[in-house]
Amino acid sequence: MYCNYCGKVIQEDANVCAYCGTRVAGVAARKRLMRPRMGRKMAGVCAGFAEYFDIDVTLVRIVWLIVAIMTLVGFVAYPIAWIVMPEEPLPAPVPAGQQVTSP
Ligand SMILES: [Zn+2]
Repeated sequence: MYCNYCGKVIQEDANVCAYCGTRVAGVAARKRLMRPRMGRKMAGVCAGFAEYFDIDVTLVRIVWLIVAIMTLVGFVAYPIAWIVMPEEPLPAPVPAGQQVTSP
């Protein structure tokens, strides 16, 4: 990969550019806010936020619920997040021929 600051080629797994010392870790593999297909209760909005911010999904749900009850913002924000947040891409399909057919 390339350093975003000086443009020199650096190691793929480097955290810091060897030439200019700029932090490069996390730039390439940046997390995206999206709704995971696994571990969702409703639309996966809370699970998506939990994954993005690296916090417990239960904590997100509790905070969201408290905010929703106290301010009503959560009730409006949830469907908006549901619409706006992209869904996690489907896992690669099983190649034809590997599927087990019933006898
Ligand atoms: Zn650099």
